[in-house]
Amino acid sequence: MKVLMHSCCGPCSAAVIKVLREEGHDLTGYWYNLNIHPYKEYEARLNAYKEYAKLVNLEIVVEDYYGLREFTKNVIDRLDTRCEYCYRSRLEHVVKYAKENNYDAFTTTLLISPYQKHELIIKVCEELESEYGIKFLYKDFRPYFREGQSMFRETGLYMQKYCGCIFSEEERYLKK
Ligand code: SF4
Repeated sequence: MKVLMHSCCGPCSAAVIKVLREEGHDLTGYWYNLNIHPYKEYEARLNAYKEYAKLVNLEIVVEDYYGLREFTKNVIDRLDTRCEYCYRSRLEHVVKYAKENNYDAFTTTLLISPYQKHELIIKVCEELESEYGIKFLYKDFRPYFREGQSMFRETGLYMQKYCGCIFSEEERYLKK
């Protein structure tokens, strides 16, 4: 199938690319992550993603948009449930692009991380699938998480230390 794969970052993309290619899919990566802050962090993750795509010959579409203002405006009154907005706002972009450009299906590398809200991601993707009439390619990639992280680490490219939004950066330190 011709699949549009939303990429949340390079490290989470590595094993997903490998698995989906092994299954015979024709993959394109799609970057749209308005949730990553502050700017230098956004830039570092995007650059690492672009470099990795080159290394593995992955065609990518990059929507280079640093969305600090839009993102924070939309989550500030619902910080405890902000991840749903985060998933939906990004994935809706993917789905619209997939629809307009005749992809057979969409998926997301968010499905590989044991730190993400897996069931919530599925729910959002299934809602978008029925809303836009484009197939959601689901697979539980979590068993490949460690392998993917190792594959990426071997490249020496930048690897992030927190989920992405400025609030997750705060939690990283407050938890210590
Ligand atoms: S914690 Fe992660 S998934 Fe949740 S809103 Fe922040 S960046 Fe998005």
